[in-house]
Amino acid sequence: MKDLEKVHKNERRDRTIVTVGDIRVGIDCLIVAGPCAVESDKQIITIAKEVKKAGANLLRGNIYKPRTSPYSFSGVQAKGLRYLNEVKLQTGLPIVTEVLDIRDIEKVIEYCDVIQVGSRNMQNYSLLREVGKIDKPVILKRGFMATIHEWLCSAEYILLEGNKNIILCERGIRTFETYTRNTLDLSSVAALKELTHLPVISDPSHGTGKRGLILPLCLSSIMAGSDGVMMEVHTDPNMSVSDANQTISLEKFYDVADKVKKTWEFRQSISNCLI
Ligand code: PEP
Ligand code: MN
Repeated sequence: MKDLEKVHKNERRDRTIVTVGDIRVGIDCLIVAGPCAVESDKQIITIAKEVKKAGANLLRGNIYKPRTSPYSFSGVQAKGLRYLNEVKLQTGLPIVTEVLDIRDIEKVIEYCDVIQVGSRNMQNYSLLREVGKIDKPVILKRGFMATIHEWLCSAEYILLEGNKNIILCERGIRTFETYTRNTLDLSSVAALKELTHLPVISDPSHGTGKRGLILPLCLSSIMAGSDGVMMEVHTDPNMSVSDANQTISLEKFYDVADKVKKTWEFRQSISNCLI
């Protein structure tokens, strides 16, 4: 299909492996953890050290926050880059952060290892073209109203500009269900294995909006074929400035990371039974 010429899986193209620190995404299990938002230097450094110890291999923390209400906290903005730089010096953990505006890309890639394009910007085509020109990996989250085809078209925009290091991230879609914040679509994870050579991870924090559902949905994502998971973690989850309900404690993260790794090993052990 012409729309998906570069993103489509075909016999001639091997799976894409994206290198993030020591992890080969597509071969190894990517575990992305950290707060929804960077709040202070102390907060992000403390969380980074702990999630690293517990097994995270990529730290998340947004300094620019897309918020539904213009009156909500919109992130610490550019000064957060100094905090993230300090995290890097103290922990060596690779860092992913979201970029909302093409004017911020240049300075963000000086400090961060991976750029996130969030759900609300999945169809921001000028942003997609710009991140297509950089030489750092991009996590492309699924638009909460986007079909799999539309999501893959967005990845195609990035690939067309030359950046092949794309990790798709299922983060839930809006459905008629209201108990959960979104419906985490695990069928997309399995479907993407048939449709594209790009790796895919899933984000049960945004996908469910409920901290109690993060563990079971992380494990089921791995079993559906996910190349990793992303979740929100905080030293004091209820005090998180954003997304508190879907944020787990550091203690819980130890448990989740351990079980994700065990599930990953189990999947490897039966991999010839899976697609
Ligand atoms: C996030 O990961 O911080 C975020 C805002 O997620 P999403 O774009 O999936 O809503
Ligand atoms: Mn969040």
